[in-house]
This record gives sequence, C-alpha cells and structure tokens, in this order.
Amino acid sequence: MKLKIAIQKSGRLFEESVKLLKECGIDLNNGKTGVLRTEASNFPLEVLFLRDDDIPQYVADAVADIGIVGENVLIEKGKVVNKVELLGFGKCRLAIAVPKSEDYPGAKWLQGKKIATSYPVILGDFLKKNNVDAEIHEISGSVEIAPGIGLADAICDLVSSGSTLFMNGLKESEIILKSEAALVSNKNLSAEKTALVNKLLFRIQAVKKAKRNKYILLNAPNDKVEAIIKILPGMKSPTVLPLAQSGWSSIHSVVQEDDFWNIIENLKGAGAQGILVVPIEKMII
Ligand code: ATP
Ligand code: MG
Repeated sequence: MKLKIAIQKSGRLFEESVKLLKECGIDLNNGKTGVLRTEASNFPLEVLFLRDDDIPQYVADAVADIGIVGENVLIEKGKVVNKVELLGFGKCRLAIAVPKSEDYPGAKWLQGKKIATSYPVILGDFLKKNNVDAEIHEISGSVEIAPGIGLADAICDLVSSGSTLFMNGLKESEIILKSEAALVSNKNLSAEKTALVNKLLFRIQAVKKAKRNKYILLNAPNDKVEAIIKILPGMKSPTVLPLAQSGWSSIHSVVQEDDFWNIIENLKGAGAQGILVVPIEKMII
C-alpha cells in the first residue's frame, strides 16, 4: 500500500514541492520534469505530476490521497478536501489591479466595469460581498495585458512582487485573498493511509520549524553569562559550557528568525563575542 501525492508538474510550486519531500528524507526515483508519476525509494509514496488546477479534483475523487496546491486554486475549485497544513511557500495574493492613472477609492469603483481574471469564483464572491455589479471576463493566462488591449477595465490576478503589474501600467488596488501552498488530503482516507499522512506531516512540521529557527553559539566572560541567558529563549534553556580559557563560557541556544537581529544586538550589548549562527536541518520538540 502506497500513499499517492499529487504535486504540480511544472510551474511555481514544482521545485519547492519536490524540495520539501527531499527535506523530509524522501528520495524520488525520478524527479525529472515531463514524467507523469514516480515512486519514492524509501517511503511508501507514489508521486503524480499534474496541472495545479486539477489537483483539488484528483484529491477530492481519491485518485490522489493528498496533494500540494495553492490555497487560491483550492478555493476557486471549491472541491471538498481537508486542508492539512500550510507549507510556507508559493506565497502570493489575489488582487484587483487597475490602470495606474485611475483613482481607486474602493470596490465601488468596479461598478459596471469589466474585470478580466482566471478566478471567476473568488472574484464573484468578492463582488457580491461588496454589492458591486461588474462583468467578469474569464481568461486563462496573461490576464495582466487585458486592460492594455482594451479587453477589460481592471484585472483580478495573482501578485507576488508586483513587477508584472507595473510593467503593464497597472497598480495593485485591493487584496482579495492571501495564499500559500497547502498540503491537502482526501476526506475519507483509510486508517492506514491516515497513519502515513501523519508520518509525513510529522516530518514536514520538523522541517518547517527548523527553517524558522537558527542555532546560535557565542562566547562570553563568566560574569556576563547570566545577563546573556536572560536574552536567549532557547528550547528549554541555553546550554552553557566552559571554554578552555578560564573565566570564559560558550553558550548555545536556538533563536527564532523573526526576532533574530534584535537578539543579536542585545547579545552584543550584553558582552557576547564570537557569535556564530548556523541553520538547523530538522527540529523535533
Ligand atoms: P499549471 O500549468 O500547473 O496550471 P499555472 O500556470 O496555473 O500552472 P503557476 O503560475 O505555476 O500556475 O502558479 C502555481 C501557483 O503558484 C499559483 O496557483 C499560486 O498558488 C502560486 N504563486 C505564487 N506566486 C505567484 C505569482 N506571482 N503568480 C502566480 N502564481 C503564484
Ligand atoms: Mg494552473
């Protein structure tokens, strides 16, 4: 018995999806593009490579047991699946963009306008919620050129940096949805398959935690150790080891990336020297 996972065949989620499996210690026999399915050599996992649009349906229909897909696609397709875990990559937002020269006071601006999008369902919900009557023009790609060629007054499209909008004379005016890649699963998995999903999830969470944290090592004179320990959170409490040079200690701990730079400044202020920061591969607490 193998767990079947659907991931994007090629595109923005492909590489990160394969990388995540690898970081979870799963070796794919054939991670090349163009192959439709492959198997892991050291985990009961079969990988199906699909268009991202098809992943929710395949998982809902149990052709695949689990899948990695953007929340944007998940919501647009409206298929019934479990959202198991957010994965921290493929971050983007679905936004309304209008020509740079326009003033956009709010959704009311869209009244009576023509909006091009590949997300008619999400856009439709947004318009309805805002009591706006607008014409949705569904197109499947290159949405950003629609206003320039006179096809629409505005667009509703995925944005990450905003440079594509800028190059097409558009500005991001309103965010409708924030999205990232998610691990999803079929609603009716057998107990055996659920156990495998949990095994995979355990590894994914360890990888995610490790990415958010750094291992930090530093030296300090013994009389500063107490002050330094107060600054360092640590998993339980920091490790303090004597240095060969008497009167000095080495302190080891784990810090979160978010408050990393503040902590470093405070540590230096408190007398820490020779600070080393190293990545953590896996973290199990
Ligand atoms: P497919 O051939 O699989 O249908 P696609 O062209 O629909 O591919 P991609 O452009 O590869 O899709 O994007 C896949 C997913 O990556 C998106 O659905 C979204 O969740 C995420 N993503 C992150 N940033 C962006 C971005 N700037 N533009 C588009 N998608 C993004
Ligand atoms: Mg697609």
